[in-house]
Amino acid sequence: MTDPATNPRIEIPTRAPSATPTDDTIMPFEVAALDLRGRVVRLGPLIDEILARHAYPDPVAKLVGEAVVLTVMLGSALKIDGRFILQTQSDGPVRMLVVDFTSPGKVRACARFDKDRVAAAIESGKADGSALLGHGHLAMTIDQGPDMNRYQGLVALEGGSLEDAAHEYFLRSEQIPTRVRLAVAEELRAGQGGASHRWRAGGILLQFLPKSPERAHVADLHPGDAPEGVEVHTLPEDDAWVEGRALIDTVEDIELIDPALSSERLLYRLFHERGVRVFRAGALRAECSCSRDNVEAMLRSFSQDDRDHMVENGRISVTCEFCSANYVFAPGEVEAKAS
Ligand SMILES: [Zn+2]
Repeated sequence: MTDPATNPRIEIPTRAPSATPTDDTIMPFEVAALDLRGRVVRLGPLIDEILARHAYPDPVAKLVGEAVVLTVMLGSALKIDGRFILQTQSDGPVRMLVVDFTSPGKVRACARFDKDRVAAAIESGKADGSALLGHGHLAMTIDQGPDMNRYQGLVALEGGSLEDAAHEYFLRSEQIPTRVRLAVAEELRAGQGGASHRWRAGGILLQFLPKSPERAHVADLHPGDAPEGVEVHTLPEDDAWVEGRALIDTVEDIELIDPALSSERLLYRLFHERGVRVFRAGALRAECSCSRDNVEAMLRSFSQDDRDHMVENGRISVTCEFCSANYVFAPGEVEAKAS
């Protein structure tokens, strides 16, 4: 091993990485020697609660899990109070994914999909995330309340995965070299009364943020002043980013979801030669923001005709798509208030 005293580029660790994994957390980190910053997400009970409640077909659940990890990674980075919403709309068997992140750590998620097409995709062995999504777009919205502007970022889904879409977004819109890894799996546990399944998910995001912005050029980013259709590869990628990206590409899915591997140990495994600094991890939880009051307000905003069509067996029943909570109203309860 290189002696830190003779090699000033290697930082001396101030303590050993914690071996204790903490589920449902997001941990920011920094590799100063390479100008890299990132976040590690590890989800246990949170993702199991969301996915078990929906009971979607497994490949759909997996895709929702990936979207949750991505949303948490992006939403928690915003230094705002409010909501960050990631939403896909596409022509694949999964028509829509919605994940809602409310600062500092509340998450909910749901999907809309065509049952028959999902079953056919599973049958034909083509039910990975990219096949389920198909073509369309992914929108990211920041909502800071009724008096604030909503900011929306858009990226095309072109038959790739959510990871691909995230890379494309950061390359085109933010122009920050970024690498994202997402993993979701079911953990099988032997126990009394038979084996039990539990969903787990995890991910890592790595970004190259050098002090001089010209170092952040990415080889395949098309210079804006070049004529349409001309591919120009004149800017070599920075060595620090090439190294960071290569390290991230070695991360296996199992390392991201392994219940026995702590986020700190994973980071140490990846970056110990350069020195990695971790910051306080943020706690995450599955929690819906629906309420009887909100549902009632929504029903009042509908036309009388629309409300009449919702009456079944003398009552209006509304089920929250995110958490399956059921709200039942007598038709008279939700008459529009006379103005
Ligand atoms: Zn709900």
